[in-house]
Amino acid sequence: METTSKTIRKHSLEKLYASLAENRKMYAPVAEADNRIGYKYNPDFSEVIFDHIQSTLSVKNVVFPRVENVIFYTNNKNDSTVTDVDLNKIPEVVLWGAHPCDTAAYDVLRSIFCWDTKDEFFAKRLEKLVVIGLACHKSDAHCFCTSVGLSPDSTKGSDILLVPLTNGDYKAEILTEKGNRILTDFSGLFEPYQDEETKLTHVEQQFDHKQVTQHLKEAFENPFWVENSLRCIGCGACAYVCPTCACFDIQDEAKGKNGKRYRSWDSCGFGLFTLHTSGHNPREVQSQRWRQRILHKFSYMPERNASLGCVGCGRCSRACPVDMNIAEQLQALQSI
Ligand code: SF4
Ligand code: SF4
Repeated sequence: METTSKTIRKHSLEKLYASLAENRKMYAPVAEADNRIGYKYNPDFSEVIFDHIQSTLSVKNVVFPRVENVIFYTNNKNDSTVTDVDLNKIPEVVLWGAHPCDTAAYDVLRSIFCWDTKDEFFAKRLEKLVVIGLACHKSDAHCFCTSVGLSPDSTKGSDILLVPLTNGDYKAEILTEKGNRILTDFSGLFEPYQDEETKLTHVEQQFDHKQVTQHLKEAFENPFWVENSLRCIGCGACAYVCPTCACFDIQDEAKGKNGKRYRSWDSCGFGLFTLHTSGHNPREVQSQRWRQRILHKFSYMPERNASLGCVGCGRCSRACPVDMNIAEQLQALQSI
């Protein structure tokens, strides 16, 4: 679809938010304790923030919840009954104010969850989601979107992208049919865009991701992995804050005859992740797990999914308790 550019005045945003909230759940960023930023369902518009750099957790939980029931079952003496989760109960959600790295991550997740067979849980949540992105006018030293082919105003994954203008209003880029429906339904809130000046941050490019991918082909046995992961404690925080990490575990939980099967986020940084029941572990030390994380995102995914597995949000570096900095490591990997 051809992109349409409109202007939405600052005072009209609240009306748009309220109108959308009438029959959908809103998921928007708010300030939390200890200077943290988090997303919350149905916050009042007065709580919603527009000037954050990055939320602590990403917004992948909207399409890939931390814990998600897959089936329910009952075991009787001679038979079992299985009940599917009713996917029609998944609500319509508007993701409001997510930055371009987070919205682009939905494309990455789609390339994983809909790669060979379509994951119906993920696909249904994505179908019910409208994404109103917010371009970035602030960044910090951990942001590296421009090194992975994105930018502070990348439109990937958004249905509408709001771009801040220097006069305090917003340019609204209408990008998809879902976005177009909102434009049609609330046309009175949008005005013609008059080439007003946008207010965007600058994110310096730190490495060339294509070169990294190329170098990784020969890097499997390189001492780089041991040297650069000795301090990694395998806590998994990097995967839990990451908008593109998609590994999950499946568990059964039963009480008496009744039980449920659910999936929950997991991390390749955990020693248990690859531990076989025999006791053998093909990734027995942390350097092999760190190597897997980087190779998966920057070598295996470009090859298999035609997509990088990283959007340069920098969350893993901000969250790491021992200061492992992924952008620095990728910069170094570019020339090993
Ligand atoms: S957050 Fe840091 S210490 Fe924890 S697993 Fe990731 S790289 Fe290792
Ligand atoms: S690997 Fe790190 S920088 Fe890349 S998308 Fe995940 S959290 Fe963001």
